[in-house]
Amino acid sequence: MNPNLYEELPAAPTPLSVPERVLTIGAHPDDAEFGAGATLARWADQGAKITIVVVTDGSKGSWDPHEDQVALVERRKDEQRAAATAVGASDIVFLGHTDGELEYSGALRNELAELIRRLEPEVVLTHDPWQRYQMHPDHRVTGLASVDAVVSAREPLAHSAAGLDHHRPEAIMLWSADEPDHVESVDDRYFNRKIDALMCHSSQSVTTMGDAAATPELRLQFENKMREWMQQSITRFDVPMGELFKRLTP
Ligand SMILES: [Zn+2]
Repeated sequence: MNPNLYEELPAAPTPLSVPERVLTIGAHPDDAEFGAGATLARWADQGAKITIVVVTDGSKGSWDPHEDQVALVERRKDEQRAAATAVGASDIVFLGHTDGELEYSGALRNELAELIRRLEPEVVLTHDPWQRYQMHPDHRVTGLASVDAVVSAREPLAHSAAGLDHHRPEAIMLWSADEPDHVESVDDRYFNRKIDALMCHSSQSVTTMGDAAATPELRLQFENKMREWMQQSITRFDVPMGELFKRLTP
């Protein structure tokens, strides 16, 4: 018999109740809203305190080769602040690493682990680092460093430069998951909150939202696409619309 029963035979996790403290760790401004915007908005309405961490500065988020990147970084911070307000998040942490150049390191893992120890979230949401064919290096690195940071944060003897107590979140939820096993149901009200939050990222309208900010028709096309994406919950979970996650129990 394998002695490590927790690894090999994990107990089914209890259903997730509304967390008091939530931490999202996204590579770029808008990642958390794409991945979990509706769930975050509902949790915020139900009293959760939500902190959004943005790991990079968003400086590559344009298709214009002559873009003023310094101005773009500031604009995207403002957009993220507006989007946080739209979902009801209370805090944002901008880590400011260079967009597109994020590399995995112990320093990055420790930076995130210290945030987890300090903020003591019950739920950490981030990218699925094991999503097959995930092309964006920042998404892969952020997801992996975040999962590793949870492990580091929970271990009493692991690194804590700030001398913070260890903290074990109840759940990690990976958005855009390769093998989702958890759904948070979304109704029209929170679907609309998610869209509103995404539309705050107007600098990304062309690059990630099919130019949804340009005309009502293009916005409708974008909304329909998002709705279709979120209705994958019907076949997988028998839920009319939802945000899908891989859920890990640290
Ligand atoms: Zn991203």
